[in-house]
Amino acid sequence: MHELSIAAAVAERAGEVAREHDAAGVAAVLLRVGELAGVVPDALRFSFGLVTEGTPAAGAALLIEEVPARARCGDCGERFAVGSPPSLCCPRCGRAAAELLTGRELELAEVRLTDPARDACHPGAPTQRAETGKQGEC
Ligand SMILES: [Zn+2]
Repeated sequence: MHELSIAAAVAERAGEVAREHDAAGVAAVLLRVGELAGVVPDALRFSFGLVTEGTPAAGAALLIEEVPARARCGDCGERFAVGSPPSLCCPRCGRAAAELLTGRELELAEVRLTDPARDACHPGAPTQRAETGKQGEC
């Protein structure tokens, strides 16, 4: 299953990031998935839950940002949504010389780590985090 191998790769990478940062675990993983990447988000979430069992990424939320597919016409420069099923014909001039701009993404955008010290803080309380971008500023 396609999604299972993707989920396994994502989980492995998230685990590496957690180790690199000496984190207790992974809180969430943000994945950017293009409309044309051929990935079913629900299947990916399900697979992610399976492959992360017993790993540092266990219990992590898989957040999927779906990226719409867009193309630009090579002739007239019109930018348009490719849609589903995808069509690369320019809606303005009708030429099929379009270049795909977005929609094939399949990338790990962010790994949010859990930090026991930070978990002790009030999650809703304003902290220095937003200003410094660092963890453990509570
Ligand atoms: Zn055109």
